[in-house]
Amino acid sequence: MYKTDVVIIGGGPCGLAAATGVSKSGAKALILERDERLGGILTQCIHNGFGLHLFNEELTGPEYAERWKARVAGDKNISVLLNTFCYSIERRGADFLVTASNAEGLVEVEAKAVVMALGCREKPAGAISLGGTRPAGIFSAGCAQKLINVEGRRVGNNVVILGSGDIGLIMARRLVCEGAKVLGVYEIMSNSGGLARNITQCLKDFNIPLYLSTTVTRVAGKKRLEGVYVAPVNEKLQPILELEKFIPCDTLLLSVGLLPEVEIAGGLGLEFNPVTNSYTVDEYYSTSIPGLFCAGNVLHVNDLVDNVSAEGELAGEFAGKFAKSGLDMSNKIEITHDEHIKYTAPKYVYNNHTGTLKVSFRVDKNYRRVIIRAMSGGAEISKRPAPAITAGEMQTLIIDKSKIINGLHLEIDVL
Ligand SMILES: Cc1cc2nc3c(=O)[nH]c(=O)nc-3n(C[C@H](O)[C@H](O)[C@H](O)COP(=O)(O)OP(=O)(O)OC[C@H]3O[C@@H](n4cnc5c(N)ncnc54)[C@H](O)[C@@H]3O)c2cc1C
Repeated sequence: MYKTDVVIIGGGPCGLAAATGVSKSGAKALILERDERLGGILTQCIHNGFGLHLFNEELTGPEYAERWKARVAGDKNISVLLNTFCYSIERRGADFLVTASNAEGLVEVEAKAVVMALGCREKPAGAISLGGTRPAGIFSAGCAQKLINVEGRRVGNNVVILGSGDIGLIMARRLVCEGAKVLGVYEIMSNSGGLARNITQCLKDFNIPLYLSTTVTRVAGKKRLEGVYVAPVNEKLQPILELEKFIPCDTLLLSVGLLPEVEIAGGLGLEFNPVTNSYTVDEYYSTSIPGLFCAGNVLHVNDLVDNVSAEGELAGEFAGKFAKSGLDMSNKIEITHDEHIKYTAPKYVYNNHTGTLKVSFRVDKNYRRVIIRAMSGGAEISKRPAPAITAGEMQTLIIDKSKIINGLHLEIDVL
């Protein structure tokens, strides 16, 4: 049995930053991490591109994680339990009880606040309608990444990748560097879900073809994969089967989306957003139960770890303040938006006229020449022109809260 001010579930970049945020507020934090080391998904991301915004350097994933691990290790307010799998969060009077298990058996942690920083898991083959047999040679992209980068294994020789999000793009390049032939990246949507820089650096620079509006319909092979069938899709994203063709290959990597690890709080009746598949939060990163915070990839899938760290640190700081002296949660207003915007994080802001608010959001498709605006009481209170915005890249807008008069509405003006 442990007692602390704030318990943080997950020791990835979000959890590490949250712990430093808790400490900054003068409270004590305990990180519970199921893995044998801290760092989350970054420990298997050996490519560079991390930390450009926060450290102004291009670090690899493990290097970026080391910076945060060093901060946590030198902080007396922060404790860590590794190899500890958390499986429930309950209310215990005004506090929370987090239950976990590790080699010592049952672990119970009583805390005044909880930060959920559990990240995401990959959608498996069962989550998409993939016809055909079930041979060896079908991997999720992150699983292949771990096998190659952490365990030093080879996953296959002739590879097809389904899904052009960042993980699919990065793995395409990684496999070529490992001596495999990547026959193509197939994407059901008409645009890639990945960052523009990854399309250039991972596909174009390595002559790997990207087939948009095309999907893998079924797989073939008995023991090992022998090939996949691909077909273009119509505007309803249904495969045009008359145009189906066979691509011989021994490996298929699926990079078809991430699912936030939200189940741990499933029984608490938290307000949920089906667009993000996660809980909604206010500007303190608190869910609809005050004191239960949520940030990082478990809140919404981020493309840049720098944003995850910034979000985690804020969530931790507010969780620490909540645990120490409570937070003013009066005058809560919903952030509304137009049809171009899929969701905003946070979804609620407190109309207390102090400080600045950073709103993150994603748009439904790619746009050229836009103005992103925030409106309140019929007046424009913030704007950011952009030459182009894409569905694959998280957008942000900074708002001076003293200008919020009546409501807060975000819109995209396409020029
Ligand atoms: C292949 C790939 C490439 C990427 N490339 C880049 C890049 O170039 N640049 C960039 O900025 N970002 C990149 N990212 C994104 C970045 O890595 C993520 O945004 C970031 O790791 C998310 O941090 P997180 O802490 O929210 O989640 P995670 O890193 O997933 O950490 C979550 C932690 O929670 C733990 N956990 C989960 N469930 C439990 C439980 N029940 N009990 C205890 N612990 C639990 C997990 O073990 C894990 O350690 C990439 C991501 C991937 C997958």
